[in-house]
Amino acid sequence: MTAQTVAISAGASGIGLAMAESFLAAGAKVFVCDVDQSALRSFQHAFPTAVALRADVGVPAHVDEFFERIAADTPHLDIMINNAGIAGPTGRLEDIQIEDWRHTVEVDLNGVFYCTRRAIPLLRRSTNASIVNIASNAALFGFPLRSPYTACKWAMIGLTKTLAMELGPDGIRVNALCPGSVEGPRIRGVIERDAMARGLTNEQVASEYQRQSSLRTFVEVEDIVAMVRFLTSRGGRRISGQAIGIDGHTESLSVDLGA
Ligand code: NAD
Repeated sequence: MTAQTVAISAGASGIGLAMAESFLAAGAKVFVCDVDQSALRSFQHAFPTAVALRADVGVPAHVDEFFERIAADTPHLDIMINNAGIAGPTGRLEDIQIEDWRHTVEVDLNGVFYCTRRAIPLLRRSTNASIVNIASNAALFGFPLRSPYTACKWAMIGLTKTLAMELGPDGIRVNALCPGSVEGPRIRGVIERDAMARGLTNEQVASEYQRQSSLRTFVEVEDIVAMVRFLTSRGGRRISGQAIGIDGHTESLSVDLGA
Protein backbone atom coordinates (compact mmCIF):
# COMPACT_ATOMS: atom_id res chain seq x y z
CA MET A 1 0.00 0.00 0.00
CA THR A 2 1.41 3.45 -0.87
CA ALA A 3 1.78 5.98 1.93
CA GLN A 4 -1.31 8.09 2.55
CA THR A 5 -1.20 11.88 2.26
CA VAL A 6 -3.16 13.59 4.99
CA ALA A 7 -4.09 17.22 5.74
CA ILE A 8 -5.19 18.02 9.30
CA SER A 9 -6.45 21.41 10.41
CA ALA A 10 -5.43 22.38 13.96
CA GLY A 11 -2.91 19.56 14.01
CA ALA A 12 -0.30 21.02 16.37
CA SER A 13 -1.98 20.01 19.63
CA GLY A 14 -4.97 18.20 21.12
CA ILE A 15 -6.90 15.70 19.02
CA GLY A 16 -5.31 16.92 15.78
CA LEU A 17 -1.82 16.24 17.11
CA ALA A 18 -2.80 12.72 18.19
CA MET A 19 -4.16 12.03 14.70
CA ALA A 20 -1.02 13.46 13.08
CA GLU A 21 1.22 11.30 15.30
CA SER A 22 -0.73 8.17 14.40
CA PHE A 23 -0.61 8.81 10.64
CA LEU A 24 3.08 9.73 10.80
CA ALA A 25 3.86 6.52 12.69
CA ALA A 26 2.16 4.63 9.86
CA GLY A 27 4.43 6.32 7.32
CA ALA A 28 1.93 8.86 5.99
CA LYS A 29 2.87 12.23 4.53
CA VAL A 30 1.21 14.68 6.91
CA PHE A 31 0.39 18.37 6.49
CA VAL A 32 -0.91 20.30 9.47
CA CYS A 33 -1.95 23.88 9.98
CA ASP A 34 -2.59 25.63 13.28
CA VAL A 35 -2.90 29.18 14.66
CA ASP A 36 -0.53 28.54 17.57
CA GLN A 37 3.00 29.35 16.46
CA SER A 38 4.73 27.85 19.50
CA ALA A 39 2.73 24.60 19.26
CA LEU A 40 3.71 24.47 15.58
CA ARG A 41 7.39 24.89 16.48
CA SER A 42 7.23 21.99 18.96
CA PHE A 43 5.36 19.90 16.41
CA GLN A 44 7.92 20.58 13.68
CA HIS A 45 10.76 19.82 16.08
CA ALA A 46 9.19 16.48 17.03
CA PHE A 47 8.18 15.57 13.46
CA PRO A 48 10.64 17.06 10.97
CA THR A 49 9.21 15.06 8.05
CA ALA A 50 5.76 16.61 8.46
CA VAL A 51 4.80 19.95 6.94
CA ALA A 52 3.47 22.41 9.53
CA LEU A 53 2.17 25.85 8.58
CA ARG A 54 0.64 28.70 10.53
CA ALA A 55 -2.92 29.21 9.28
CA ASP A 56 -6.15 30.31 10.91
CA VAL A 57 -8.88 28.25 9.23
CA GLY A 58 -11.25 31.18 9.61
CA VAL A 59 -9.11 33.31 7.28
CA PRO A 60 -9.48 32.24 3.63
CA ALA A 61 -6.09 33.69 2.60
CA HIS A 62 -4.36 31.56 5.28
CA VAL A 63 -6.17 28.47 4.11
CA ASP A 64 -5.19 29.22 0.51
CA GLU A 65 -1.52 29.42 1.53
CA PHE A 66 -1.80 26.10 3.36
CA PHE A 67 -3.25 24.35 0.32
CA GLU A 68 -0.79 25.99 -2.07
CA ARG A 69 1.97 24.49 0.05
CA ILE A 70 0.28 21.07 -0.02
CA ALA A 71 -0.17 21.23 -3.81
CA ALA A 72 3.49 22.18 -4.23
CA ASP A 73 4.52 19.04 -2.32
CA THR A 74 2.09 16.39 -3.52
CA PRO A 75 -0.08 15.79 -6.59
CA HIS A 76 -2.94 14.42 -4.54
CA LEU A 77 -4.44 14.24 -1.07
CA ASP A 78 -6.01 11.06 0.33
CA ILE A 79 -7.46 12.43 3.56
CA MET A 80 -8.73 15.82 4.69
CA ILE A 81 -9.46 16.04 8.41
CA ASN A 82 -11.43 19.13 9.37
CA ASN A 83 -10.47 19.15 13.03
CA ALA A 84 -10.14 22.86 13.89
CA GLY A 85 -12.90 24.02 16.17
CA ILE A 86 -13.15 26.34 19.15
CA ALA A 87 -15.50 25.94 22.09
CA GLY A 88 -16.95 29.43 21.65
CA PRO A 89 -18.66 31.38 24.43
CA THR A 90 -20.64 29.83 27.29
CA GLY A 91 -23.86 31.63 28.19
CA ARG A 92 -27.48 32.19 27.36
CA LEU A 93 -27.99 33.29 23.77
CA GLU A 94 -29.15 36.79 24.72
CA ASP A 95 -25.88 37.34 26.62
CA ILE A 96 -23.58 36.24 23.79
CA GLN A 97 -21.62 39.05 22.14
CA ILE A 98 -22.01 39.36 18.36
CA GLU A 99 -18.23 39.24 17.90
CA ASP A 100 -17.98 35.99 19.87
CA TRP A 101 -20.80 34.45 17.84
CA ARG A 102 -19.19 35.51 14.57
CA HIS A 103 -15.75 34.25 15.57
CA THR A 104 -17.14 30.83 16.52
CA VAL A 105 -18.96 30.53 13.19
CA GLU A 106 -15.89 31.74 11.29
CA VAL A 107 -13.69 28.99 12.77
CA ASP A 108 -16.12 26.13 13.42
CA LEU A 109 -18.21 26.35 10.26
CA ASN A 110 -16.70 28.67 7.67
CA GLY A 111 -13.26 27.15 8.30
CA VAL A 112 -14.60 23.77 7.22
CA PHE A 113 -15.87 25.32 4.00
CA TYR A 114 -12.62 27.19 3.33
CA CYS A 115 -10.51 24.04 3.83
CA THR A 116 -12.79 21.58 2.09
CA ARG A 117 -13.22 23.66 -1.08
CA ARG A 118 -9.45 23.70 -1.48
CA ALA A 119 -9.02 20.02 -0.58
CA ILE A 120 -11.56 18.64 -3.07
CA PRO A 121 -9.50 19.10 -6.27
CA LEU A 122 -6.57 17.28 -4.60
CA LEU A 123 -8.82 14.55 -3.20
CA ARG A 124 -10.24 13.90 -6.66
CA ARG A 125 -6.77 12.73 -7.72
CA SER A 126 -6.66 10.04 -5.00
CA THR A 127 -7.83 6.45 -5.43
CA ASN A 128 -9.01 6.23 -1.80
CA ALA A 129 -10.15 9.70 -0.79
CA SER A 130 -11.92 10.55 2.40
CA ILE A 131 -12.98 13.63 4.33
CA VAL A 132 -13.42 13.36 8.09
CA ASN A 133 -15.17 16.20 9.88
CA ILE A 134 -14.60 16.33 13.62
CA ALA A 135 -18.00 17.45 14.88
CA SER A 136 -19.18 16.69 18.43
CA ASN A 137 -21.99 14.97 20.28
CA ALA A 138 -23.32 18.56 20.45
CA ALA A 139 -24.19 17.97 16.77
CA LEU A 140 -26.91 15.53 17.84
CA PHE A 141 -28.64 17.29 20.76
CA GLY A 142 -29.65 20.70 22.03
CA PHE A 143 -26.88 21.94 24.33
CA PRO A 144 -27.92 24.82 26.61
CA LEU A 145 -25.41 27.68 27.05
CA ARG A 146 -23.35 26.61 24.00
CA SER A 147 -25.57 27.84 21.15
CA PRO A 148 -22.95 29.03 18.61
CA TYR A 149 -20.83 25.87 19.01
CA THR A 150 -23.87 23.62 18.82
CA ALA A 151 -25.30 25.41 15.77
CA CYS A 152 -21.97 25.06 13.93
CA LYS A 153 -21.60 21.38 14.79
CA TRP A 154 -25.16 20.63 13.58
CA ALA A 155 -24.29 22.50 10.37
CA MET A 156 -21.26 20.26 10.02
CA ILE A 157 -23.51 17.21 9.84
CA GLY A 158 -25.60 18.88 7.12
CA LEU A 159 -22.41 19.61 5.21
CA THR A 160 -21.16 16.05 5.70
CA LYS A 161 -24.33 14.48 4.32
CA THR A 162 -24.57 16.92 1.41
CA LEU A 163 -20.92 16.53 0.47
CA ALA A 164 -21.17 12.74 0.72
CA MET A 165 -23.84 13.01 -2.01
CA GLU A 166 -21.91 15.51 -4.13
CA LEU A 167 -18.61 13.63 -3.94
CA GLY A 168 -19.77 10.00 -3.67
CA PRO A 169 -19.98 9.49 -7.46
CA ASP A 170 -16.28 10.43 -7.59
CA GLY A 171 -15.44 7.83 -4.93
CA ILE A 172 -14.80 10.39 -2.18
CA ARG A 173 -16.21 9.44 1.20
CA VAL A 174 -17.32 12.04 3.73
CA ASN A 175 -18.05 11.28 7.38
CA ALA A 176 -18.41 13.18 10.62
CA LEU A 177 -17.28 12.05 14.05
CA CYS A 178 -19.26 13.12 17.10
CA PRO A 179 -17.01 12.73 20.13
CA GLY A 180 -18.23 13.20 23.66
CA SER A 181 -16.14 15.18 26.14
CA VAL A 182 -12.51 14.22 25.63
CA GLU A 183 -10.19 13.95 28.63
CA GLY A 184 -7.75 16.87 28.48
CA PRO A 185 -7.20 20.59 29.03
CA ARG A 186 -9.94 21.75 26.67
CA ILE A 187 -12.74 19.95 28.49
CA ARG A 188 -11.37 21.17 31.83
CA GLY A 189 -11.74 24.75 30.48
CA VAL A 190 -15.29 24.05 29.28
CA ILE A 191 -16.18 22.58 32.68
CA GLU A 192 -14.69 25.58 34.53
CA ARG A 193 -16.65 28.08 32.39
CA ASP A 194 -19.87 26.08 32.71
CA ALA A 195 -19.41 25.78 36.49
CA MET A 196 -18.87 29.53 36.73
CA ALA A 197 -21.91 30.30 34.53
CA ARG A 198 -24.17 28.09 36.68
CA GLY A 199 -22.66 28.65 40.13
CA LEU A 200 -21.57 25.01 40.53
CA THR A 201 -18.26 23.36 41.39
CA ASN A 202 -16.06 21.89 38.68
CA GLU A 203 -16.62 18.43 40.20
CA GLN A 204 -20.40 18.80 40.00
CA VAL A 205 -20.24 19.77 36.33
CA ALA A 206 -17.72 17.02 35.45
CA SER A 207 -19.93 14.41 37.12
CA GLU A 208 -23.02 15.79 35.33
CA TYR A 209 -21.22 15.51 31.95
CA GLN A 210 -20.19 11.91 32.65
CA ARG A 211 -23.73 10.95 33.63
CA GLN A 212 -24.93 12.21 30.22
CA SER A 213 -23.33 9.14 28.64
CA SER A 214 -24.74 5.61 28.99
CA LEU A 215 -21.24 4.32 29.66
CA ARG A 216 -20.77 7.11 32.26
CA THR A 217 -17.50 8.06 30.65
CA PHE A 218 -15.41 10.75 29.04
CA VAL A 219 -13.66 9.85 25.79
CA GLU A 220 -9.94 9.20 25.31
CA VAL A 221 -8.24 10.84 22.36
CA GLU A 222 -7.12 7.35 21.27
CA ASP A 223 -10.78 6.41 20.71
CA ILE A 224 -11.10 9.16 18.10
CA VAL A 225 -7.77 8.36 16.46
CA ALA A 226 -8.76 4.69 16.13
CA MET A 227 -12.02 5.58 14.38
CA VAL A 228 -10.32 8.02 12.00
CA ARG A 229 -7.72 5.40 11.09
CA PHE A 230 -10.45 2.83 10.47
CA LEU A 231 -12.66 5.15 8.41
CA THR A 232 -9.76 6.18 6.19
CA SER A 233 -8.49 2.61 5.75
CA ARG A 234 -9.70 -0.01 3.28
CA GLY A 235 -12.00 -1.30 6.03
CA GLY A 236 -13.96 1.95 5.86
CA ARG A 237 -14.34 1.98 2.09
CA ARG A 238 -18.15 1.61 2.05
CA ILE A 239 -18.83 4.10 4.85
CA SER A 240 -19.95 7.57 3.84
CA GLY A 241 -22.44 10.21 4.90
CA GLN A 242 -22.38 9.07 8.54
CA ALA A 243 -22.32 11.00 11.80
CA ILE A 244 -20.61 8.54 14.13
CA GLY A 245 -20.86 8.97 17.89
CA ILE A 246 -17.70 8.26 19.92
CA ASP A 247 -19.21 9.11 23.24
CA GLY A 248 -20.28 6.05 25.22
CA HIS A 249 -23.77 6.82 23.85
CA THR A 250 -24.88 10.30 24.83
CA GLU A 251 -28.41 10.22 26.23
CA SER A 252 -28.83 13.99 26.52
CA LEU A 253 -26.80 17.18 26.80
CA SER A 254 -29.38 18.97 28.88
CA VAL A 255 -28.03 20.79 31.90
CA ASP A 256 -29.82 21.92 35.03
CA LEU A 257 -30.55 25.62 34.48
CA GLY A 258 -32.68 25.82 37.60
CA ALA A 259 -36.24 27.15 37.71
P1 NAD B 1 -8.06 22.24 21.34
O1 NAD B 1 -8.81 23.35 21.98
O2 NAD B 1 -7.17 21.37 22.17
O3 NAD B 1 -7.25 22.90 20.13
C1 NAD B 1 -6.49 22.12 19.25
C2 NAD B 1 -5.73 23.05 18.31
O4 NAD B 1 -6.62 23.90 17.57
C3 NAD B 1 -4.77 24.03 19.03
O5 NAD B 1 -3.44 23.75 18.63
C4 NAD B 1 -5.21 25.40 18.55
O6 NAD B 1 -4.14 26.29 18.36
C5 NAD B 1 -5.88 25.05 17.23
N1 NAD B 1 -6.77 26.09 16.70
C6 NAD B 1 -7.67 26.82 17.39
N2 NAD B 1 -8.29 27.69 16.57
C7 NAD B 1 -7.75 27.49 15.33
C8 NAD B 1 -7.97 28.11 14.08
N3 NAD B 1 -8.85 29.11 13.93
N4 NAD B 1 -7.26 27.68 13.01
C9 NAD B 1 -6.34 26.68 13.15
N5 NAD B 1 -6.09 26.08 14.32
C10 NAD B 1 -6.79 26.48 15.40
O7 NAD B 1 -9.12 21.33 20.57
P2 NAD B 1 -9.39 19.76 20.64
O8 NAD B 1 -9.98 19.41 21.96
O9 NAD B 1 -8.22 19.03 20.14
O10 NAD B 1 -10.61 19.66 19.59
C11 NAD B 1 -10.42 19.39 18.22
C12 NAD B 1 -11.80 19.25 17.58
O11 NAD B 1 -12.56 18.25 18.27
C13 NAD B 1 -12.64 20.52 17.61
O12 NAD B 1 -13.32 20.68 16.40
C14 NAD B 1 -13.62 20.28 18.75
O13 NAD B 1 -14.82 20.99 18.60
C15 NAD B 1 -13.84 18.78 18.62
N6 NAD B 1 -14.30 18.17 19.87
C16 NAD B 1 -13.54 18.26 21.00
C17 NAD B 1 -14.02 17.71 22.17
C18 NAD B 1 -13.23 17.77 23.44
O14 NAD B 1 -13.78 17.42 24.49
N7 NAD B 1 -11.97 18.17 23.40
C19 NAD B 1 -15.27 17.03 22.18
C20 NAD B 1 -16.00 16.97 21.00
C21 NAD B 1 -15.51 17.53 19.85
